[in-house]
Amino acid sequence: MVGADEIKAESRPVGRFAPSPTGLLHRGSLYAAVGSFLHARYRGGRWSLRIEDLDPPREQPGSAQTIIDTLAAFGLDWDGEIIWQSRRHSLYADAIEQLRADQRVFCCACSRRDLAGVGVHREPCRRPYEVGLEHAIRLRVADGFVALDDALQGRYEQDLAIEVGDVVLQRRDGYYAYQLAVVVDDAELQVSEVVRGADLLNSTPRQIFLQRQLDLTTPSYLHLPVLLDADGNKLSKSRYAPAIEPAQACRELRLMLRLLGQDVVSAATPSALLAEAVAGFDPNALPRVAQIADDEVVVREPSKAQ
Ligand SMILES: [Zn+2]
Repeated sequence: MVGADEIKAESRPVGRFAPSPTGLLHRGSLYAAVGSFLHARYRGGRWSLRIEDLDPPREQPGSAQTIIDTLAAFGLDWDGEIIWQSRRHSLYADAIEQLRADQRVFCCACSRRDLAGVGVHREPCRRPYEVGLEHAIRLRVADGFVALDDALQGRYEQDLAIEVGDVVLQRRDGYYAYQLAVVVDDAELQVSEVVRGADLLNSTPRQIFLQRQLDLTTPSYLHLPVLLDADGNKLSKSRYAPAIEPAQACRELRLMLRLLGQDVVSAATPSALLAEAVAGFDPNALPRVAQIADDEVVVREPSKAQ
């Protein structure tokens, strides 16, 4: 029998925002933050903040704290403690152990050079595994399609064996892969809805496959359009993606509401503005496109004085 607490936990959505501290918060990431916040909160749900600091060589010192401070200044208040992936390695190791016990993973000592020109990596390895050799851990994928019904992007499917290959869960340098950590953490935090940018849509089938291998629940998915700059580049890769300024929080939040298809509200502080946006949120008005190019998104670099 299901207890009352479980029913309550089930009916209350849990969303999250999960930035990597590899740079400052720009409008592309703010868009995902505001979208996931509104989608979780308009039904009274929880919204967690998880810092995906799994890859120290790619991280920028101070970036995590700047992201946290910016979210706070924008009134994007998260529930509970901030989750740091760098402090959760034992959970990722346990998941790999479980997969190893079920014989779903293998050691791969192939180097980049070995795999050059191979396309996707599937067993067997190019280089035979020897004990002590630096190696990655890969998850064996199965033949056939893995599909999802995304709330905005619709049906999406991939044949992992053909399009992706055996998935790296732990890299040769020992760092845990994003694909593993995101699956383990979303399950452990009981995330019920993943709202993020459509640039991650093509990672989703392998994450669902991994959830199944670990006997975990699959959350619902909603992939927001990617914001493009004037040259058609994704903002995270764009040289025209300035960090967002807390002093401009209300203006920035109104821009995000417009790009989310929501009523643009007039409250004078970020918190009041978000509260109004939560109250009026309409998920059916979210844009059902993969990309948005909008003049207001991109602030061109000021032209140099003559
Ligand atoms: Zn290999």
